[in-house]
Amino acid sequence: MKGNLNVQTENIFPVIKKFLYSDHEIFLRELVANAIDATQKLKALSSRGEYQGELGDLTIDVKIDKKKLIISDHGVGMSAEEIEKYINQIAFSGANDFLDKYKDVQENLIGHFGLGFYSAFMVADKVEIETKSYTDAPAAHWSCDGSPEFSMTKGKRTSHGTDIILHIADDCSEFLEEHRVLELLRKYCRFMPIAIRFGEESVWEDSETEKDKDGNPKRVEKKQPRIINDTDPAWKKTPSSLTDEDYKKFYHELYPMNFEDPLFQIHLNVDYPFNLTGILYFPKVRRTIDPNRNKIQLYCNQVFVTDSVEGVVPDYLMLLHGVLDSPDIPLNVSRSYLQSDSNVKKISQHISKKVADKLEEIYKNNREDFEKKWDDIKIFVEYGMLTEEKFCEKAMKFALLKNSEGQYSNLDEYREKIKALQTDKDKNVVYLYATDAEEQHAYISKAKAKGYDVLIMDSPLNAHYINLLEQKIEHTRFVRVDSDTVEKLIAHEDTIPEKLTQEEKDKLKPIIEGEVDKQRFTVMLESMESDDAPMVITQNEFMRRYKEMSETTGGGMGFYGEMPESYNLVVNINHPLIEQVLKTEDADKQKQLVHQLTDLALLSNGLLKGEALTEFLKRSVAMIG
Ligand code: ADP
Ligand code: MG
Repeated sequence: MKGNLNVQTENIFPVIKKFLYSDHEIFLRELVANAIDATQKLKALSSRGEYQGELGDLTIDVKIDKKKLIISDHGVGMSAEEIEKYINQIAFSGANDFLDKYKDVQENLIGHFGLGFYSAFMVADKVEIETKSYTDAPAAHWSCDGSPEFSMTKGKRTSHGTDIILHIADDCSEFLEEHRVLELLRKYCRFMPIAIRFGEESVWEDSETEKDKDGNPKRVEKKQPRIINDTDPAWKKTPSSLTDEDYKKFYHELYPMNFEDPLFQIHLNVDYPFNLTGILYFPKVRRTIDPNRNKIQLYCNQVFVTDSVEGVVPDYLMLLHGVLDSPDIPLNVSRSYLQSDSNVKKISQHISKKVADKLEEIYKNNREDFEKKWDDIKIFVEYGMLTEEKFCEKAMKFALLKNSEGQYSNLDEYREKIKALQTDKDKNVVYLYATDAEEQHAYISKAKAKGYDVLIMDSPLNAHYINLLEQKIEHTRFVRVDSDTVEKLIAHEDTIPEKLTQEEKDKLKPIIEGEVDKQRFTVMLESMESDDAPMVITQNEFMRRYKEMSETTGGGMGFYGEMPESYNLVVNINHPLIEQVLKTEDADKQKQLVHQLTDLALLSNGLLKGEALTEFLKRSVAMIG
């Protein structure tokens, strides 16, 4: 029998080919998925007693045979009438509708839409179907060379199931190469629910006859059929049946090139109001973040769809690893539509909630473990708090702060701890922090000597995160330890009496200003303890924070970003050496003393470098002698 395919557009094949060119590898996913569907249908019929025969080996075979690529299954098969109905009419008109609707959408969007059976024509210039229904209907053969004409004849198959035979086009010969086909099967079919056989693989085992020189059985290579998929992946199992080890094993199965264990995982398992399963892993993330490795993979009933999960997963969780599987995510539409889809929104919110719950659970049940993991997960938590209101609400309960002694406290505990000593005269509790324990060591120890606690806050989101905490926790100020002298970091009522008169101060200031770069340093005279340092360098908290924010946000606050680094040179007027500067009458000696003092202050801040440092060393040696 010959017939015409039921389409309006005569030249649909060139259109299919052109439209889908960028993503034409998905044909294999579509055809194997159909084979899986057909096999699952037969299993369902059998379990309901509607199919009485033996099920036998249901493994799906993918084979390369010269210029043909063949996909064979032992599923329900099709009768001639069914080919007419499902292949000749429905599938094709479906494709046609699709192309009509999305005539001018970008190519890359279409890859997500399974054109189903007809995607075979993206890579083949002739497609044949050999099929036999599980019913008594005779076997059928269908063939089409890419024109709207097809032929239907009697088929050759003797058992139920279907062979899809692709005569691969000359410009698509890559799909006749074993490694390429294997790569595609591993990408799209790795977790499909029926075993898929492709080619052979080597296994090494003890020989039964041959022995080595020590008399032990010789190891011999044996070829066996290669099964490319795991039909029962961990995310489909019930969480209670899995151990931590099972989860880790699956993680390494998913990312064979990643040798580090994940920190912990969240097993998602929802069926109402949408269907979603999956496992999300928290990887160890410190400073090095590579968003292009080990991405979250999105599946639809165990069929790989994509690893671009923007929109489906909240932004702050994009760096997690793992799999999501949902038949309720529309795969055939554009990104912007995806983001406004109500199912997708619900899924994203659900994921966010689950993550917050899991973190809270670990925090509550095993605080010690939570503290151990904190440095690795804080970036997720901070980012989440900054971007998701609901997540922030929950996270306020378990977010931790770490001090310079490596102790962790939650936000309430910390406030309780520092309240007594670190409340300023305006009733603000002042949180002191350092961004670099090494570099700011001198400031940290001074603050500690005063009984203050210093936080270590070194995340890349710091400036934003600190602003958030200042908004969320009333009467709170964050101040970096080196932003002022220790007396002024937290302004208490009591001030230290000044040893210099106004007249003496007016005389002192220009002497010191004469020795420093005025563009970079503002000289400030302060009354500090006489045993504090004679000079200290500080950097204004707000200037620095704006500068940092403009660096991480890149724009918006450009003005601050372009400001040169500027510092305060704080002079302790109660220090005996400063008094000495005033009293020194020899101008050269006075200069040298001021120079020495400013250099010392620069040195303790890591700002004395190069020639200036060499000069300083020479001068110091000379002074000792
Ligand atoms: P979809 O899979 O979305 O229904 P397809 O174009 O992939 O669309 O397939 C159309 C129909 O052809 C299927 O619904 C099924 O009835 C039939 N079909 C395709 N491949 C097979 C197969 N290997 N075995 C049995 N039926 C098949
Ligand atoms: Mg299909």
